[in-house]
Formats: sequence, structure tokens, C-alpha cells
Amino acid sequence: MENIKAPRGVRDILPDESWKWASIFDVTRKIAEDFGYREVHLPIFEQTELFSRGIGETTDVVEKEMYTFSDRSGRSLTLRPEATASMVRAYLEHGMASGPQPSKLWCAGPMMRYERPQKGRYRQFWQLDFEAIGSSSPLVDVEVIALSLEIFRRLGLSNLEVLVNSVGCPVCRPVYRSALQAYLGGHFESLCPTCQGRYDRNPLRILDCKVPTCRSITDGAPDVRDHLCEECRVHFDEVLKGLALIGAKFRIDKRLVRGLDYYTKTAYEVLSGDLGAQNAVCGGGRYDNLAEAIGGPHTPGVGFAAGLDRIVLTMEQQGLGFGKEPSIFATVVIADEGARDEGLRLLYELRKAGVPTDMDASGKGMKAQMKAAGAAKAAYVCLLGSSEVVKGVVALKEMSTGTQAEIERDRIVAELVLKAGAARC
Ligand code: ATP
Ligand code: MG
Repeated sequence: MENIKAPRGVRDILPDESWKWASIFDVTRKIAEDFGYREVHLPIFEQTELFSRGIGETTDVVEKEMYTFSDRSGRSLTLRPEATASMVRAYLEHGMASGPQPSKLWCAGPMMRYERPQKGRYRQFWQLDFEAIGSSSPLVDVEVIALSLEIFRRLGLSNLEVLVNSVGCPVCRPVYRSALQAYLGGHFESLCPTCQGRYDRNPLRILDCKVPTCRSITDGAPDVRDHLCEECRVHFDEVLKGLALIGAKFRIDKRLVRGLDYYTKTAYEVLSGDLGAQNAVCGGGRYDNLAEAIGGPHTPGVGFAAGLDRIVLTMEQQGLGFGKEPSIFATVVIADEGARDEGLRLLYELRKAGVPTDMDASGKGMKAQMKAAGAAKAAYVCLLGSSEVVKGVVALKEMSTGTQAEIERDRIVAELVLKAGAARC
């Protein structure tokens, strides 16, 4: 029988990588606290309509990328391709509108999209997702963008580009859409087949097509900023003013339209110069029509999702540190079987005291136990033989220097607690 492997495009995050993820979560959690965002955990599958109505029927995500299935009672369910729609659903379902506004929430977790797997693009990937729901103030757009940039700043990322645009609203977008269609209509035959398909259904998407002929056509396309209504124009100006005020570096990009239909006004993206083709590390914007699209009252909102897999790739590419890799601090090594019981007692006393400690459980000889302690990068070895047990001492060996000292059994736990504490500082 063939060995079963993980599905295509889905990967295991093994210990050598997952500790790096944990350190990014630590940084993110602190920033969330600094900005007043509270963590939630959302389901990884939802009713399909949440995404088809919320994200929009004509988007790539809904048309091509969703994992949709029927459960045993015939309900259509979908593995979440993103978290914003779920967050707004949760906000509405739990009546969060009656609390202080905006509700500032975040979550982290896997998202699933049926995409062509390649470096930086997976069928299951992780996002850090921040949403501020219930305020239409441009200062909240600024806060959300600033928060994402603060994550990258604290992680030490460089070579990033921040692109900002406005995609208008239901008042001005149709006007822009018509102007764009009128322009593109004159070049229809030269558009790529995909963009010809987009022409009627979603012409804005043609703006971010990467095919060179489409790009040169869209170079001359009308700029959305010339078509914004008064409200959207003022909003965009306030966002730009706020970003400049806090010293954020950004570039206005008229091509930035984002893939999801529910965006209104602000759209932004953060690109990494070190990722090649899959270069977006974060995308977000305002989605004032999403709550209504999924059956709720009109509720403005703004947020972003950052791709964790791509953040880690960029950090590795840039040679950045991830903090200290957790490792065993002490190993209990027994010289003979007569010391095993005392060794076990010591092992659990140390663990209980918060000193990361391990001990062989398979009856290895002393030499092999010492070798394992070295491989685990233990800072100290507690050597115990029957004679030490009788004497009431432990031979404590410092692995980096090889020096060994006899410590009273009664004092050994306190001694290692001190040393482990000092090592952490
Ligand atoms: P892309 O243009 O790369 O397809 P997107 O616009 O579809 O990205 P969003 O829906 O905005 O992406 O999701 C936010 C972030 O999630 C992206 O900026 C990216 O970092 C990450 N992301 C999206 N799709 C994937 C994927 N298939 N694999 C890994 N990360 C992803
Ligand atoms: Mg995509």
C-alpha cells in the first residue's frame, strides 16, 4: 500500500519552524494588547452563503478557490478561505454593536483555498487577521494600517512596500466602472482571455492583471481617484493625512483594487521585495457593505490579514532572528539503575519548578545518555549514581565548560531554578 501523505499544497509545520511561529504570535499578541484588540477564535468552516454573499460571487476566491462540501444532512459548508466574513458574522451574531465601537478583534489561524501550490502559496496557509468593526472614521483605517506595519517593524522586516488606494463606494464605483469599461472596450481584442472574461463581470480586476499587454493597456486607464464621490475623496485624504502624520511610508497605487468585492474606500497591501512572485505579505481595507451583504444592518468595518507563511519566508530570506529557540535546560543522567527512582523524582521536581528538563526513559547506558543531553543542547546535566543517592548529592555538570560540582540534593532544584532564570535574561 502506498504511504499516505498530506494533501497537495498542505504542509506540516514541524518543530524547527513552529517555534518561529510561536515567537511571531508572541509579538503579535503584545501589539494587539498595545492597540486594544482582543483575540477571538472562529470556526474553520461556515455556511457557504457567508462567503458567496460576503466575498462576492465574481471573485477568484468564490469562483475557483473554495473548498465546499455537503455535510451528512445536505447543508453546504465551506472551509474558510479568509476570516473577515466570519469575524463580521460573529460580530452580528453576538450583538457586539451594543458594546463600545468599534469592536476591535483579532484572530490567527489556517485558511483554505484551492490554489496552484508554489513557494509562498499553499492550499492551507495561516493568517493574522485584525478587524475594527463599527466605525467609519478614517482614523480607524489609519490605526489598522499602522498596526500591521508595527508587526513588521517589531519583527525587523525591511524591504517592504506599502500600497494604498481607494476603491470608492456604491455611489462612485459604478461611475468609475463605466469609465473604465468605456476605456477598456477600445482595447478589448488585445486583453488576455481572462481579462476579456472579467470585462463584463468584474472590470476592476483587469487593473491588477500581470500579463504585460494588459498592463500596458491599463497604464492609460482612468484613475479611480478622479471619480471618487465627495465622501470617499474626503475619507481618502484623511487616511493619507493620518498615515503621513504617524510617519508611515506608502505609495498610492491606482491599480490596487483587491480581490474581494466587499471592499469600499480604503484598500491597501504590503509587498515584500524578497518573495518573488508571491510577494504580498498583508492585504486589507475597508468593507462598509459586508455586514449588509450577509444579512445584517449597515455596519462599517476595516481590517487586514497578514500571511504568516510568507512572513516567516521573508524573515528567513532577510536572515532575521526569531528570538531564542526553546530548548531543554537540564538533563538527568543516571549512572546505574539503582539511581533511576531518585532520578525520576528529581526530573519531576525540576519540571514542576519550571526548569525544562528531560531524562532517558529507554534504559540507555550513561555514555548514550550524555550524548543525548549534548544533542538536546542541555546547559546542565544532573548526574546521579547509587553512590550520589546514598550521599544525598547530585553531580552537576556544566556542559559548555565541562566543569562538574557536587551539590546537595536538597539544594539542586533551587540552584537550577536560579541558573535557568539567569539564562533567560
Ligand atoms: P495573492 O495576491 O497572493 O493571491 P490575496 O490578495 O489572495 O493574495 P488576501 O486574500 O488579501 O490575499 O490574504 C491576505 C494575505 O494572506 C496575503 O497578503 C498573503 O500574505 C496571504 N495569502 C493569501 N493566499 C495565500 C496562499 N494561498 N498561501 C499563502 N499565503 C496566502
Ligand atoms: Mg489570492
